[in-house]
Amino acid sequence: MQNIFDLTLEELKEILKPSFRAKQVWHWLYIAYQNDFNLMANIPKDLRAKLNESFSAKNLHIKEIQTSSDGTKKYLFLTNDNHSFESVLLKMKEQKIDKFGNTIQTPKYTICISSQIGCRIGCKFCRTGIDGLTRNLSCGEIIEQIVAIKRDNKILPQKRVNIVYMGMGEPLDNFDNLIKAIKIISNLDGLSISPKRQTISTSGISPMIDKLGEFNLGVQLAISLHAVNNETRNKLMPINKAYNIESIIESVRRFPIDTRKRVMFEYLMIKNINDDLQSAKDLLRLLNGIKAKINIILFNPHSGSNFERPSKESAESFASFLISKGLLATIRESKGIDIDAACGQLKYKDKLNKTKLKELEYKNKSKNKNVSYETKE
Ligand code: SF4
Repeated sequence: MQNIFDLTLEELKEILKPSFRAKQVWHWLYIAYQNDFNLMANIPKDLRAKLNESFSAKNLHIKEIQTSSDGTKKYLFLTNDNHSFESVLLKMKEQKIDKFGNTIQTPKYTICISSQIGCRIGCKFCRTGIDGLTRNLSCGEIIEQIVAIKRDNKILPQKRVNIVYMGMGEPLDNFDNLIKAIKIISNLDGLSISPKRQTISTSGISPMIDKLGEFNLGVQLAISLHAVNNETRNKLMPINKAYNIESIIESVRRFPIDTRKRVMFEYLMIKNINDDLQSAKDLLRLLNGIKAKINIILFNPHSGSNFERPSKESAESFASFLISKGLLATIRESKGIDIDAACGQLKYKDKLNKTKLKELEYKNKSKNKNVSYETKE
């Protein structure tokens, strides 16, 4: 049975005749978030039967939702072949002025999606990479995360959402599925999420950054830099031995960027590893001439890692130095920290030993009284 979310509209038109039927089905999938072909009311019965025979629109199943005290929701998805992985919905508030001049607050959504089950990059600070790569997510599985989360939260189709490929996995290590997913996600008749609202976050596989640049899709680029010299980066991210800092920076310089946008550099700050002022000075030198934004993230300690969270003061002086030199730098507030939904904390549970998992869940539940758990079947 084929995952219907794996198909572009053009591919669906080749299969469903007359082709306007493809557009109707597309509308049901992406605008009405309907995943039951039998409930697609304007589709003739025989075509619904054909769809049921050949396609599946239910390829991801929500097993659990954890809601953080800050509103962040972490979804545990189960695939049809029984693997699980996580995605995160971040809710922020956006201020707008209405036609009467009143300030109104509306929710702003960012969906952090996964591209792989596990990851083979093996960054030392990350829970996802601990057990290596199980498999790539298919193009359809990448897309269905967004549809499922929009459906679950009743997010209107016309409501703008941002997509960040910052969940589990290295998106550029699943390149073909990623490219196809970006195209389907941006289709104006469907989810219609502009490429400029989609950010690809990479550990820095420089030849793949170049390849992504050749497609010139208009997506945003985020680089998980985390260190300013190869010695430190080699220790944090073994991938740096293959593609070092210099090669990444060269690829970034070649990457086609909207002149109004900036390349985001993620800087995971770890106590006594990269939180000193000298690193800030070296970072400034490294990014010379690049329209960059530096996002400082304070390391979120988790079981299985010996790294420590830096002090707020060291992060602030690091950021202030960069800002004083004209760079855009922010300290990112980690959302969903109480439910392990923050950067580097996502972990697929089917590989965790069951006792360990129970221990972790018990610890989390007793630690976080404000976290709500919802288990779905
Ligand atoms: S930080 Fe990203 S690239 Fe590194 S191991 Fe984790 S998921 Fe993979």
